[in-house]
Amino acid sequence: MICRNRSVKEYNSFGLDYRAGMFASVESVDEIRELIDMKNECGSPYFILGGGNNVLFTSDYDGIIIHPAIPGIEVEDTSGENVVASAGAGVEWDSLVEWSVARGFCGIENLSHIPGRVGAVPVQNIGAYGSEASEVVDSVVAVNMDDGSERVFKNAECRFGYRSSIFKRELKNRYLVTKVFFRLSPGGNFNLGYGSLEAEVNRLGGATPANVRQAVINIRAGKLPDPAVLGNAGSFFKNPVIDSHKAGLLKERFPDMPVYIEGEGLAKLPAGWLIERCGWKGRRMGDAGVHEKQALVIVNYGKATGRQIVELSEEIKRSVCDRFGILLEPEVEVVGAI
Ligand SMILES: Cc1cc2nc3c(=O)[nH]c(=O)nc-3n(C[C@H](O)[C@H](O)[C@H](O)COP(=O)(O)OP(=O)(O)OC[C@H]3O[C@@H](n4cnc5c(N)ncnc54)[C@H](O)[C@@H]3O)c2cc1C
Repeated sequence: MICRNRSVKEYNSFGLDYRAGMFASVESVDEIRELIDMKNECGSPYFILGGGNNVLFTSDYDGIIIHPAIPGIEVEDTSGENVVASAGAGVEWDSLVEWSVARGFCGIENLSHIPGRVGAVPVQNIGAYGSEASEVVDSVVAVNMDDGSERVFKNAECRFGYRSSIFKRELKNRYLVTKVFFRLSPGGNFNLGYGSLEAEVNRLGGATPANVRQAVINIRAGKLPDPAVLGNAGSFFKNPVIDSHKAGLLKERFPDMPVYIEGEGLAKLPAGWLIERCGWKGRRMGDAGVHEKQALVIVNYGKATGRQIVELSEEIKRSVCDRFGILLEPEVEVVGAI
């Protein structure tokens, strides 16, 4: 389905009403190839948009927005000790988690209620409550956006990093993910070490895939605003990973600052804590604001423009840099003119 001059309001979680010159929802590899031919002929820029839960539009998009809507969840292989299941890029991520939990499969229950489509999961290497997509992605099928050829990326070839992968860096916008294979476990091997997760699971009656999913949903509901009510894109910034020596010096100055060891010589700091310490929690600049319960989340109180949200994020970056000497990096991707 191709529409001209279509609003992307339904396709971004900030609820911003910008327009795409052309909006193409594609349901099969053949449709993607037809679109590639068209795009190559007219030379238009394009952007691949899933559910728009991690993007911030700042203007109309004068090109083609390609929305992968490939459906389908399948069990592919049960012969080994794991179950391999596949899902089309257009499947809602949380419906895959629900599907998996309903069958008693483990591995993705900690990632419950992360909004978005399956296609973005390996791109973003989504993560929450101590789990990351990289731990369960077996392989990724993607179409080359220049010539329409298909390629399978095994897990190691995806070069996963913190909220990142080869699809977000070296091959940014060059491959469209069509299908993802996940390695799930039929037996319970739960990861409950994060925050209050174990306590909530116990309160619900003990560790089962369904209880872990419900516990995650309960905890998330108390912390994060629902984009259907208050536009937002979850964490606006990444948690900075810095040299552990520098982290040690900061800890001397700010003894209550949480510091998490991140492998050799590196430490991760919670961006939300840094932002809160700069006094941003609950503050507004017009209709763009910092959420009152979670300083890492920038919200649209209704009439903010994409640019106003960018301006607020720049102010936040400036004050964190002035106070802590740390440059925050946005997790959210800005699409459009600034
Ligand atoms: C309330 C809220 C809570 C959130 N919580 C979390 C959380 O706990 N953990 C977390 O990791 N994230 C979280 N996020 C961020 C977001 O949900 C994830 O990044 C999600 O994967 C985005 O999916 P999407 O389909 O909306 O992707 P989009 O936002 O549309 O796209 C994200 C990126 O992926 C690219 N892309 C999308 N689909 C494809 C494809 N098929 N092929 C190639 N490239 C593609 C886009 O070009 C873009 O670069 C949250 C967001 C919100 C609004």
